[in-house]
Amino acid sequence: MLILPAVPNNLQSLWFARHSQIEYIVAKPYGTMTMENETRENLQKRPDIISVLMCDEDEATRQLVEGYLKQSNGLNFNLQASTDSKQIAMLLETAPPDVVILALNLEGKSMLEWLDEISAKNVAPTIILAADGDELIAVEAMKRGAADYIPKSTLSRTGLTESLVQARNRWSHSKAVEEERVELERMAMFDSLTDLMSRRALMEQLEIEIIRSGRYGHPLSVLMVDIDLFKRFNDTYGHLVGDEVIKGVTKSLKQNIRRSDFAGRYGGEEFVLMLPETTLEQALLLAEKLRMFVSKMEVNVEGKTLREVTVSIGVAQFREDDTLNSLLDRADKGLYLAKGTGRNRVAHIS
Ligand code: GH3
Ligand code: MG
Ligand code: MG
Repeated sequence: MLILPAVPNNLQSLWFARHSQIEYIVAKPYGTMTMENETRENLQKRPDIISVLMCDEDEATRQLVEGYLKQSNGLNFNLQASTDSKQIAMLLETAPPDVVILALNLEGKSMLEWLDEISAKNVAPTIILAADGDELIAVEAMKRGAADYIPKSTLSRTGLTESLVQARNRWSHSKAVEEERVELERMAMFDSLTDLMSRRALMEQLEIEIIRSGRYGHPLSVLMVDIDLFKRFNDTYGHLVGDEVIKGVTKSLKQNIRRSDFAGRYGGEEFVLMLPETTLEQALLLAEKLRMFVSKMEVNVEGKTLREVTVSIGVAQFREDDTLNSLLDRADKGLYLAKGTGRNRVAHIS
């Protein structure tokens, strides 16, 4: 048995409580924090511990919950209880529990206000423990996103533990779904090989820039960049070396553009740079600088040093009557001209 003072802002003991040897904690705002120790090995054998933060002024209910969670067969709960608003806020930020049990009215705040505050932090689901007569509030709490509500009069070990497990599982599931959605979104917007904007993201951004330029009459130019005789690298050295050449060119692009410019992978070994506030003359200068930079670049891969990487670049400036397609088409025609006149060149058509 270890006794620690339950100082509300004792971060070290909170971290210790969460990450080390404790299976069971009862924290009182102005009392003591008692812990029944377990060894790290034991915890690792039983990793499925559900941490619960109980916020209830009613000591009898807290003890009841404590008893139920202690004896729940096969399930491990790590219970912290607090009625101190500062401590609750800090626990939610520094050591978020898996589930919050809420049943208090503190510092002039209602249970619903507490629920809104906890929900806004988006760290854990909240189960409402409703006192008799609180049912209407509990229903409102459910509407505002509470995971469950349990009337105090019907509190039972099975009901409580089931509710906690379900709330925790649903929360982890929705977190996993959300993470997957964010990752899919990221994959759609960024190219995995180069981390440049994907073609889709690039087109979306270019549409926005075209509207902006059209409305305010500001210049906008695009560069279509294509690696010369790229197939040769793949055929001679293999696809992985080809990929390194693409990455090398990507690095050169990133090094030569402004933060306000956009770079995307348009196709296999083709890139589009979008340059807001840039005239054709300025874009041609940048294209030439870029062409030169790449022609001097070295790609070190698989013990080889490749020095013969070059790019051809087509340049076009946005015109008032341009669409996305007509602008890109003009840049593409410039690129075609550059290829046709010997590669490792910059060109544009008027
Ligand atoms: P050009 O100078 O006319 O552009 O000739 P090129 O060889 O660069 O053009 P071509 O279109 O004939 O070949 C492009 C090659 O790029 C064909 C394709 O297999 C390869 N490629 C496309 N995407 C990738 C990729 O992600 N990695 C690698 N290694 N190769 C790719
Ligand atoms: Mg090419
Ligand atoms: Mg190509």
